[in-house]
Amino acid sequence: MEIMFILVPIFIGCVFIFTFAMVLSPKLRGKMMSSQIKATKHMLNESVDDLADIATTSSNAFIKASKNILDSNEEVLKDMATKKANINKEGIEITMRAIKKGLTEDKKYCKHCGFSIDADSKFCSKCGKEQ
Ligand SMILES: [Zn+2]
Repeated sequence: MEIMFILVPIFIGCVFIFTFAMVLSPKLRGKMMSSQIKATKHMLNESVDDLADIATTSSNAFIKASKNILDSNEEVLKDMATKKANINKEGIEITMRAIKKGLTEDKKYCKHCGFSIDADSKFCSKCGKEQ
């Protein structure tokens, strides 16, 4: 019984020192995390068949759910696709207009400040420097 009065404080002291070392030493924390990763890897290797089974089951459930959604919401989904296409169309039109404008307008950029100026300008209209 008396030996417990020695062993228990030693054990508590060791736990305390270990916790303190973990807080203070990034290297020790890294080693502990690394061993955790190795344990996880080992666990995954042990469970590879179960994981494949889970993946297959959940994929099947997902496909079934997707099919149900498509079957029961066809009109809504068609409407959404059309709306999205129209939004994209507008974006593409804006981009194309910008490209066309860039190609047809004779513009260049100031060598000094980067301001957009006419291609035949001798001086920048913003900073006034010679081109
Ligand atoms: Zn300029």
